[in-house]
Amino acid sequence: MSCLLVLNAGSSSLKYAVYREAERLHGGKRERLTADGQQQAIQSVLAEIRQVLGSESLLAVGHRVVHGGDQFHQPVLITDAVLQELDRLTPLAQLHQPHNIAGIRAMMAALPGIPQVACFDTAFHATMPLVERMFGIPRHFYESGIRRYGFHGLAYESVVEHLRSHDPASALGRLIACHLGNGASLCAIRDGHSVATTMGFTPLDGLLMGTRCGSLDPGVVLYLERHIGMQTAEVDQLLEHESGLLGVSGGLSSDLRDLLASESPIAREAVDLFCHRIIREIGSLAAVLGGVDAITFSGGIGENSAIIRERILTRLDWLGMTWDSTANQAGADRISTASSRVCVVRVPVQEENIIARHTARILGLPWEA
Ligand code: ADP
Repeated sequence: MSCLLVLNAGSSSLKYAVYREAERLHGGKRERLTADGQQQAIQSVLAEIRQVLGSESLLAVGHRVVHGGDQFHQPVLITDAVLQELDRLTPLAQLHQPHNIAGIRAMMAALPGIPQVACFDTAFHATMPLVERMFGIPRHFYESGIRRYGFHGLAYESVVEHLRSHDPASALGRLIACHLGNGASLCAIRDGHSVATTMGFTPLDGLLMGTRCGSLDPGVVLYLERHIGMQTAEVDQLLEHESGLLGVSGGLSSDLRDLLASESPIAREAVDLFCHRIIREIGSLAAVLGGVDAITFSGGIGENSAIIRERILTRLDWLGMTWDSTANQAGADRISTASSRVCVVRVPVQEENIIARHTARILGLPWEA
């Protein structure tokens, strides 16, 4: 028998999993990595995986890549030409893409001759209509790639797949998926296809996140540079790393658990803003969809925080939903009541499964559950 390895090399963490066809044999995570630390972590993951594989061989590696630009709407076998294209897309996802690419290069060096496949976070949103992808700026910028791409696509594919197998009626219809972790976004999905999402040109847009500001009047950026005298690199640092829950809580924490546990009024305000943005965007996506049949919660916050789900759901009565507070508290899979017009489901997202399946498909490898 032979196996596949999935690698998700992020900005500060490395997640990996080994599959024998559709069976997940092993997986893990290395956290709080620096750039040098990533290379060491990859070597230690490889050593760990060789142990797990024993006499079985490794057939392929599947990678998560944040940005596929306008050219990669499907997973792709990585060649030198593809790697060059991925390098070229780095300015569009400065925070993530270099780590994804470093992971690919390290694996290609360590495992020469073993095919590697890139799976993109932007690809799921290729079905979004033009009005969702355009900014209101002169159109030659759109032609040169300055457009809304959307992210978290592998997570949304995982949500759709989960619903198809557990709740097929909700997968076909109008779904708002709430993927809430350190990075957070929402996606409006119709019949399994993305029609709108809150992240745009970069993963900075949309909801308030752990350290990212989310939607911001572009006039603020102009003001910071022109009147406060901040350099572009400083504005970048501010909006990516010092804003969001961390910034709004006055530097207290980017971790929602810390803020929920705090007595401080500004911690409460940060949580209020986090929830408010989600409620507001759900309203906007409900309008795009013309109604809602299902809402899902995923990501570290969406899956684990009953309080945040409750705070959101209590503001959504107008959508015609009734939900069960005990089921929510208990972390049940289904949170809505049997008679609710809108189905509310908690989804454990498995991005690695999606990457493994795409990798097998691209290479024509067997994939039996
Ligand atoms: P990433 O976007 O980095 O993949 P995750 O999806 O792992 O992030 O989510 C991480 C976040 O989930 C943490 O920062 C933490 O705030 C939040 N989280 C995890 N468990 C809970 C919980 N029980 N209650 C509230 N927040 C939680």
